[in-house]
Amino acid sequence: MRNGLDQFPLLPQQLDHYIGGRFVPSQSGERFANVAPAPDQAFGDVALGAAADVDAAVAAAHEAMAGPWGRSTAAERARILRKVGDLIVEHGEELARLETTDTGKPMAESLTGDIARAAANFRFYSELSAHQSAASYVGEDGTHHVSRREPLGVVGLITPWNLPLYLATWKLAPALAQGNAVVLKPAELTPLSVLALMPLLAAAGLPKGVVNIVQGLGAESAGEALVQHTGVSAISFTGETGTGEHIMRAAAPTLKKLSFELGGKGASVIFADADIEHAAFQAARAAFRNQGQVCLAGSRLLVQRSVYAEAVARVLDATMKIKLGDPLAEQTTMGSLISREHRQKVMGYVDAGRREPGVEVLCGGRVPPSLPIGAFYEPTILSGVRQESRLIQEEIFGPVLTVQAFDNEDEALALLNGTKFGLSCSIYTQDIDRAQRMASRARMGLVWINTWFVRDLHTAFGGMKRSGLGREGGQYSLDFFSDFKTISTAVAAHKRSL
Ligand code: NAD
Repeated sequence: MRNGLDQFPLLPQQLDHYIGGRFVPSQSGERFANVAPAPDQAFGDVALGAAADVDAAVAAAHEAMAGPWGRSTAAERARILRKVGDLIVEHGEELARLETTDTGKPMAESLTGDIARAAANFRFYSELSAHQSAASYVGEDGTHHVSRREPLGVVGLITPWNLPLYLATWKLAPALAQGNAVVLKPAELTPLSVLALMPLLAAAGLPKGVVNIVQGLGAESAGEALVQHTGVSAISFTGETGTGEHIMRAAAPTLKKLSFELGGKGASVIFADADIEHAAFQAARAAFRNQGQVCLAGSRLLVQRSVYAEAVARVLDATMKIKLGDPLAEQTTMGSLISREHRQKVMGYVDAGRREPGVEVLCGGRVPPSLPIGAFYEPTILSGVRQESRLIQEEIFGPVLTVQAFDNEDEALALLNGTKFGLSCSIYTQDIDRAQRMASRARMGLVWINTWFVRDLHTAFGGMKRSGLGREGGQYSLDFFSDFKTISTAVAAHKRSL
């Protein structure tokens, strides 16, 4: 059943797994319905993977490693990666429409965000891997030591639904640059865009079996089978903190290398000396981009009391300008949440929160009456929320912003650091010393000063505390996907002296 999928030529006839260079159904024959969130419509049925499919994918990946790919040079791989980046740009419009249809995010965001970044991931790692050097050292006795990188072998990638192609390519590009073969399990809610990438990888010259996709669920299914597989050397996972904990336990018997990018509870911190207009605009953007379904979202707003009224009024003003509507429409700046189930979870937080003493709903808190079909939810701002509230302590992952006031830096830091998460924050101030003090004391993996979501692919990406394990990005990803081997060679003079 293809339903509306005919409009996407990159997609295969059947939404299957991709194993050994072919689209193949599940060995069990089972499938699951894929539902596009706006307007909640069945959007093809997808192969439901299980352990047997993961076995087949891992075997295909090992076969690829035993072939020319396993002997490929960094320069050869870099050429393929560059070509993939070019092909993503060439097919950008189709990929963006596909991503928007599958996720409900605005088309402009898919095009200039997700898809542009997917291409950038391949181009960046094409460059970086082509210019790597080995560390070499000549010992006192003349022995020549070289520490060099080798691929890990077959690696597993597990990705979430909020940035499907962007996050898949964020892991794929460095894994391939480093010469590994891959088994990727995309999120069950967004299985499509990585499938559409497969013909582009083949067209760029990637040999069969180097990238394999197994569709399906996570727990007690394809995801878990991948994590527990003895033929998989590493898992790079992005998703919820609770899932990360589960994966760590499940992976333990096979002693895999693990990289975790987990949940966040970011904050925008506005000091009285900030450019309030700019800070408020950025804070609204940080809270509501991608319907608030961003790990780096600034879902908390902390404002110094003397400018609280002004800053909150400006954030409200920026929020009112958001155009909620059909994700494919050009003017839309906020689309649908990923599913009705997820919206139910988001609403549950807001409805419980608004019953807490002192909490005031400043805007939103409703399903928009004009958009009854789909999983739309109004951008919502709540004030008067206590630090212990679940609204502050848990990741809602929706368009919900809480506002809190503080008097001084220490108080701001206590609020900022007062959750189990440690992924990201933005500090708004014109005092450079204060900005640096705050940045040093924030227990966050990413700190922006006077901005939000500015990413450079060279830099380390990841969270402190319960927001992650290890770092990805730039050289960090290449290190994760590498094994290191030191080869020590005795030189002739040294051998004679023995
Ligand atoms: P999730 O943890 O529910 O699922 C993520 C992936 O893991 C999916 O492919 C899922 O099928 C799979 N999975 C689930 N249980 C599994 C298991 N037991 N074993 C193996 N695989 C399993 O997360 P989600 O709801 O898809 O995504 C939202 C979460 O992702 C949020 O918490 C968000 O903060 C986080 N996220 C983090 C980053 C980051 O870089 N830190 C980026 C994007 C999203």
